[in-house]
Amino acid sequence: MGDELIAAISDQAIGLNDPGIGDAARRRAPVQVPDLSEGTPSPAQKIVLDAGYRGVLVVPLLRPNKIVGALVVRRRNPGEFDQQIVHLMETFAAQSVLAIQNAKLFREIEEKGRELEAASRHKSQFLANMSHELRTPLNSVLGFTELLVDGIYGELPDKAKATVARVQANGRHLLGLINDVLDLSKIEAGQLTLALEDYSVGQIVRSTVTAVEPLARSKGLSLAVTVAENLPLGRGDERRLTQVLLNLAGNAVKFTERGAIDILADAVDGHFEIIVRDTGPGIAPTDQALIFDEFQQVDNSSTRQKGGTGLGLAISKRIVEMHGGTIGVESVPGSGSTFRMKIPIRAGEDVKAA
Ligand code: ADP
Repeated sequence: MGDELIAAISDQAIGLNDPGIGDAARRRAPVQVPDLSEGTPSPAQKIVLDAGYRGVLVVPLLRPNKIVGALVVRRRNPGEFDQQIVHLMETFAAQSVLAIQNAKLFREIEEKGRELEAASRHKSQFLANMSHELRTPLNSVLGFTELLVDGIYGELPDKAKATVARVQANGRHLLGLINDVLDLSKIEAGQLTLALEDYSVGQIVRSTVTAVEPLARSKGLSLAVTVAENLPLGRGDERRLTQVLLNLAGNAVKFTERGAIDILADAVDGHFEIIVRDTGPGIAPTDQALIFDEFQQVDNSSTRQKGGTGLGLAISKRIVEMHGGTIGVESVPGSGSTFRMKIPIRAGEDVKAA
């Protein structure tokens, strides 16, 4: 058909009472009009007749409870179409219905995918805002408890002192959780940006050791640090990288009951390699891939002994990847775990150089 004919037919509204297509739709079966010039053609049929067609075969496109459309075959000679052709067209119509339905479903899935993406973005935004709002009053609670503990408002009775100390400990724990949720939602919302600056790996290791040493000592764990000499200055987000190492070392101390924690730092092939090794319970192979996902803990039971949110490693992985690095674990259950992170010494500079 030429464009003009298509346009003329497209303009016609076809109802169930129309001869031809209307008949086929009503009967849910193929309908033939052997000669359009006999009888009274509908306005649409008139257009087709004027264009030089005489014989028409209409095969409805059927779904169990719906008519999707119709397949119309015309020819310039009058007369019935062969039964074989009618069968062929029926098969073709059945296939077309499936194809049309698939295309529709596919479009719907795409649409749903877009909606889900938007919902997830809103969720991250909401979490980011909420955690931000929660931090302010919590910091004030922590500030005042600290003043109470320090005796600024006078010496507290021993019982009260112990209680306030617990308020303080729980408040700090809550702040840690809120900070984790804030970080994660910022990462998901694409709002976490790195503050790139020159840093010293030695300094990152030292800050980490200072933070975890008291707990390691109180658990009787030895803490050995080996930082290669003459390491070059790195470029990256020092605060975030310290957060990652602190998470790895904190986990090592938290999960290890006896033995040693080793922290090693070196430079290999343009990368810093930082290793945290422990003699803790180890991690089963099936769990090794999972622990870097959000909210994944090897022991998810409510009676779980070690605290934590299961967010630390997920955040660490994202931070390391934002630096263009990798993080992974090797472990044999019962023989400890070795976490290894590799980050380009000068993160973010290869892009400019390219
Ligand atoms: P969290 O420590 O807050 O639970 P993480 O994301 O840091 O969350 O760790 C996820 C899980 O991985 C932990 O709950 C623990 O089951 C496992 N894990 C991490 N580090 C170690 C380790 N050094 N030894 C044994 N298990 C570990």
